[in-house]
Amino acid sequence: MQITFRGACRTVTGSSHEIQHAGKRILLDCGLFQGRRAEANEKNRWFGHSAKEVDAVVLSHAHIDHSGKLPKLVQKGFRGPIYTTPATVDLCKAMLADSAFIQEKDAEFLNRRTSRKRRLQPDCPDCDVEPLYTMVDATATFPLFRATGLHERTHITGDLHYTAYEAGHMLGSSYVLVEGGSTRLLFSGDIGRKNLPIIRDPGPPPPAEYLIMESTYGDRLHQPMEHAAFKLAEIINRTAQRGGKIIAPAFAVGRTQQLVMLINQLMRERKIPDIPIFVDSPLAVNVTDAFRQHTECYDAETAQFMEDHDDPFGFHRLRYIRDVEESKALNSLRMPCLILSASGMAEAGRVVHHLSNSVGDPRNTVLITGFQAENSLGRKLLDGQKEVNILGEPHRVRAEVFKLNELSGHADQRELLEWMEPIAKGLKHVFLVHGEPLQQQTLATMIRSMYNIPVTMPETGDVFPC
Ligand SMILES: [Zn+2]
Repeated sequence: MQITFRGACRTVTGSSHEIQHAGKRILLDCGLFQGRRAEANEKNRWFGHSAKEVDAVVLSHAHIDHSGKLPKLVQKGFRGPIYTTPATVDLCKAMLADSAFIQEKDAEFLNRRTSRKRRLQPDCPDCDVEPLYTMVDATATFPLFRATGLHERTHITGDLHYTAYEAGHMLGSSYVLVEGGSTRLLFSGDIGRKNLPIIRDPGPPPPAEYLIMESTYGDRLHQPMEHAAFKLAEIINRTAQRGGKIIAPAFAVGRTQQLVMLINQLMRERKIPDIPIFVDSPLAVNVTDAFRQHTECYDAETAQFMEDHDDPFGFHRLRYIRDVEESKALNSLRMPCLILSASGMAEAGRVVHHLSNSVGDPRNTVLITGFQAENSLGRKLLDGQKEVNILGEPHRVRAEVFKLNELSGHADQRELLEWMEPIAKGLKHVFLVHGEPLQQQTLATMIRSMYNIPVTMPETGDVFPC
């Protein structure tokens, strides 16, 4: 067996690893690189192999940095099966369609901007931007999905088999064991945490000789999950008493549903006032439907909640908003309310409009619930900047900015080390991916000293026989 690392090398997006064995070639994940426009554009149009020569894809979970390049692979000629869990198939259908829509809009915007230049210089080489892929490519991807349940050993191609295990990171997430001949390779995908709302805890890993492991929080420790509900109640109460609104930029997939579930519980227990809650994101609406369908992924607590109260993602004060006009109408609301809206880093989407409307009022709160990349609007607010630019206009920040960082879907350093502990004795080599260099180095040192296993942090294009 041979591994070629194609993405998420010393960075946290673009997950993709190529496995070759006995004349067959498969990809573990096919994710979108997210970052600065020019760099992302170049990386997302490049594969390093011919798409037609890929026999199959095994997908760990639906997040776009793991699945988002699948339509590009199909556009370039891939026609093989894509194996993943049933919930991931349904989430991907909503997310890849949304991603294609964004790609098309993005290209349209850039082409509008260069239209004047094109009039003056008709053969201008960089004036016609093609979208990375379109809705047609996304739709052509859907029939290739093959849903397989957890723990079902499945034949992929040639001598290659795979089995998926519960990763506890998001709905339908898995880590995958690939077997080829006598070699067993475990790919962690993204490893979740115990006690996350809705989903089950990560399961124990199966024995393997080689491990490709994520390292997002390789040098950090999280706050305990149990504090999340308490802190959420505290900030909702404080803002409502001031008569303000709470604007929560949240990732449409996963984080929004977790927050809805927590707010539902808090309202039932009368720990927060009876204020209107809005989920303002068309993608979140579609994805929540997939969450409702896949009850097989729920933990015992959510299953019990459903038995006692019916729908965990719907309650009397909650409204889902698809329509743009309805979204705009929220701006004129003059009463305490909570608006959950994408994008999660407040970089794009409807939440930007809500923020431009709200950050100037000291009664309001901006609730930050996820990782905020450098230079994003979310990060600037979190860093306490007194003035920020929103939609090209300067805004004074007078609203309270509150951070709820207990809901992270990624295992921290201690949890990563504990997760691999049961199989550490049998491992010949660990490859760290999906992490920044500093996180990886710290984790690599810990793995070497605790378990005495060789650790590599591959670069894009590195090849390893195993
Ligand atoms: Zn993920």
